[in-house]
Amino acid sequence: MAEEVRVRIAPSPSGNLHVGTARTALFNYLFAKKNNGKFILRIEDTDAERTSQEYIDNIFDSLKALGLNWDEGPDVGGPYGPYTQSERFDIYPKYVQQLLDSGFAYECFCTPEELEQEKAAATAAKKPYVYSRKCENLTEEEKAKLRAEGRKPAIRFNIAKAQKAFHDTSILEFEDLVKGKLHMDTDLLGDFVIQKSNGAPTYNFAVVIDDALMKISHVIRGEDHISNTYKQILIFEALGLPVPRFGHLGMILAPDRSKLSKRHGATAVSDFVKQGYLTEALINFVALLGWAPSDGEEIKPVEEIAKDFRIGEISSSNSIFEYDKLKWMNSHYIKMLPMETLKEMLKPYLTQYDLSELTDEQYTKMVELTREPLTLLSDITDAVPYFFGKDVTIDDETQTGTLDTETAQDVLKDFVEKAKDWEWSEEVLHQELEVFRGVWKEKGVKPKVTMWAIRAAITGRTRGADMVGILEILGKETSLCRAKKAIK
Ligand code: GLU
Repeated sequence: MAEEVRVRIAPSPSGNLHVGTARTALFNYLFAKKNNGKFILRIEDTDAERTSQEYIDNIFDSLKALGLNWDEGPDVGGPYGPYTQSERFDIYPKYVQQLLDSGFAYECFCTPEELEQEKAAATAAKKPYVYSRKCENLTEEEKAKLRAEGRKPAIRFNIAKAQKAFHDTSILEFEDLVKGKLHMDTDLLGDFVIQKSNGAPTYNFAVVIDDALMKISHVIRGEDHISNTYKQILIFEALGLPVPRFGHLGMILAPDRSKLSKRHGATAVSDFVKQGYLTEALINFVALLGWAPSDGEEIKPVEEIAKDFRIGEISSSNSIFEYDKLKWMNSHYIKMLPMETLKEMLKPYLTQYDLSELTDEQYTKMVELTREPLTLLSDITDAVPYFFGKDVTIDDETQTGTLDTETAQDVLKDFVEKAKDWEWSEEVLHQELEVFRGVWKEKGVKPKVTMWAIRAAITGRTRGADMVGILEILGKETSLCRAKKAIK
């Protein structure tokens, strides 16, 4: 039987969940689904200073909101826990010792100042910096002396030794699931640190031990990790552990082709949600960053994408994060929301209004009237002010451009006079307004101009939802009161 597919997402909680991480999580999740495998969440919180519980919670909440539920993780547990790196610190020293004993690692007593000097010398000579390896062959006496001075060693990986043992050459090659054959001259890596002088493992070391012990079969992550992959392969080999398959995803760039950052718009999943994006739209959108459905149909819920997804079809190049396209998708997903769901989802964006002014029926009607042009859920805030309160705020342009005209004033006087006798139901209002427009048309006023006057007086704007619907929700009293106020 083929080995079980086990993939993971391993975010560092130094910020809220980034859309790029959401995409990596999605591709891992889809790969697991496709292969009846397991999707694992591991929190890489070894950088205590940049880690916070708030970010950890945000990662959990965002992944859940996107529907990317994990089979094993810090909260749900699993056979290879703990799934939080800071709780695994007692696991790593044994493997460091194994590397020391087998000569694939050595103690390095260099001080930060000494290392700085080496770096400065390399810079001055215009050479790429690699560690001088001067601690590789220290004798036991020399080490004892340095220890007596109070120096605590870091542990470095011995690249030359690993090259000799496993490759016979400094060129290391691997077959990437996304990018095909990749290679690097590992002489350029330098003997990197696997355990800091304070005893903490470095990312490259902890990740190997965790991936091995969690039996990760495929590591799918951003291409910014490619240079780490060479280091990690060498560690796997030196420890005699099976090397997983690797797949590196292209970067996500902003429309101006620079690194996607806050100045382009939201980057954290939770910020997109706050701005009124639906997680269904967001997940559909990020799936298309590097992958395309075989039928060309872009609007696709995750379950559909899962059926179609093949890792070998992921593009190896970078993707552009088109905010406009995401908005377009979002408006689609808003249109598809069932009425009751939409009504609930809009409420957080309506807190500035007193919703108790409307009955549930009126609220439903208001949402029906205004949902069509919504791109973001938050668009509702500016779409509905005139449904609330007795009075309405009239913008300057509407006041001078429409309400102050003689025609508008005459139309409104007539409207107030006639409408007070109208029955205030949708059907009747339709008919009455039809007749009303007809009368003014005969006097030479275009129907739309007649309606502008009424709309301007009642909503304070010249554009908006269907007028009959608005009148009906506001009721006769408020509607006529606003119309009267607009008459000079
Ligand atoms: N904690 C690393 C990151 O957030 C994980 C990288 C990996 O997937 O190995 O970039």
